[in-house]
Amino acid sequence: MSQSAMQEITCPQCGKKHECLVWDSINTMENPEMKAAVRNDEAFRYHCPDCGATAVLNYNFLYHQQEDKILIFVDADGSSYNDMAAMLGQKGNAFDGYVKRIVLSYNEFKEKLLILDAGLDDRIVEIIKSSVWANVEEHYKDKGIEEIYFATNEDGEHGFLFRKGGAMVASMEFDIALYKAIKDAALPRIDFLSQKDLIINRAWAVEMVNKLG
Ligand SMILES: [Zn+2]
Repeated sequence: MSQSAMQEITCPQCGKKHECLVWDSINTMENPEMKAAVRNDEAFRYHCPDCGATAVLNYNFLYHQQEDKILIFVDADGSSYNDMAAMLGQKGNAFDGYVKRIVLSYNEFKEKLLILDAGLDDRIVEIIKSSVWANVEEHYKDKGIEEIYFATNEDGEHGFLFRKGGAMVASMEFDIALYKAIKDAALPRIDFLSQKDLIINRAWAVEMVNKLG
């Protein structure tokens, strides 16, 4: 079920207060227009009617792409992890067979959507990204890379973006042959070992690579 409410927002530019529509829960089957709106940020963008400033709001919400059996909880402030983990971890409810994820930031949410839209398994993408991180830390530590995100460009090509101070400083092509090789070699074991895992990120990938041996 989609759920939204009006909430008072203080404009970050002019300081005036206005009501803004905030979503607790988004179901793309009920609100198909939200599928595009979460991808282009309009769902979370505040437009100030006084000064015209816009800002993307960060708040907790549940994203339910029901037609594809995908459930992602965005725990932007870290306040709801335990509750959501308990809910998503339950068996024998309407969400059996779903891809269930908890992400800890809005950027991670956007990255998950890009990976899912590309038809890729986020677990394998994170495993590849963890090896990219290892390479960066071994050979390019002086570059001060802070974030690496999966991304898709306007031509539909996938890659990793390297960011520092919030800006992109480098990129690399996504190695689809490597992706397929890992998938063919390890997917059943990854499935078996990660059945209950909700947070699929770099730390998860490092642990999984160790388990896979
Ligand atoms: Zn304003």
